[in-house]
Amino acid sequence: MKYALVTGGSRGIGKAVCLELSKQGYGILINYISNRHAAEDTKTSIEQQGGIAELIPFDVADNNAVDSTLTTWMETHPDDFIAVLVNNAGIRKDALMIFMQNEEWSNVIRTNLDSFFHITRRLLKDMLSNRFGRIINIVSLSGLKGLPGQTNYSAAKAGVIGGTKALAQEVAPRKVTVNAVAPGFIDTDMTKDMDENTLKKMIPLGRFGKPEEVAALVGFLASEQAGYITGEVISINGGLYT
Ligand code: NDP
Repeated sequence: MKYALVTGGSRGIGKAVCLELSKQGYGILINYISNRHAAEDTKTSIEQQGGIAELIPFDVADNNAVDSTLTTWMETHPDDFIAVLVNNAGIRKDALMIFMQNEEWSNVIRTNLDSFFHITRRLLKDMLSNRFGRIINIVSLSGLKGLPGQTNYSAAKAGVIGGTKALAQEVAPRKVTVNAVAPGFIDTDMTKDMDENTLKKMIPLGRFGKPEEVAALVGFLASEQAGYITGEVISINGGLYT
């Protein structure tokens, strides 16, 4: 069976991506860090639409946890193949740089950037030997434009964008594609502390996006039809920044 691993699949954009990729016939590996209840909800929703899902909790920022969990999964699923990886799990810890604490910098870099390296490297070998793979990295408008108060987050997401473009060229000969999706403001737990009424006045389409809209784009990039798109960063931001 072909599987898709979605990091941070318990809530928000990741949950919508799990549901979308399940519709394409992939078994879904729902990663999360602590919110088991939300992850179980995602699993139930997938099963209700006829799909197959497993929970695979680990901290994406913990290299040892990434390696041991994925190695165990592969050993117990010798005939299965993780064909799609969506590096989605992410956190914000906003502060002006002058006030930013060391751990606010390093936690955001480890969770949003280092995770891309550790998880992707672990899954690449199988993708290269199977001569198929889809790697989709959820970045941000913040990584393209830079946003004040987010030097940590902007730097992490910009780092993933650079990694996306470099890796795409390394693995293209084996039909593995690597792309990034850069959302603007999307209605999830991550943005619930923001002043939506003020912010939406800056967005040409006049509203926050929905997780399902991001998931539809990820679903397309994961599909066979998207096999000639690689190394791209595709914005989905209601016209906020192009
Ligand atoms: P949410 O805060 O709604 O969900 C975050 C998800 O990531 C949860 O599933 C959470 O798991 C998981 N997670 C967080 N830290 C870890 C970790 N260390 N290890 C494993 N899983 C972890 O976020 P969104 O859905 O809004 O964001 C998803 C991605 O999209 C992020 O990369 C974010 O940066 C990006 N993005 C979001 C935008 C937005 O406006 N919402 C805009 C641009 C980019 P648990 O449930 O266990 O806590």
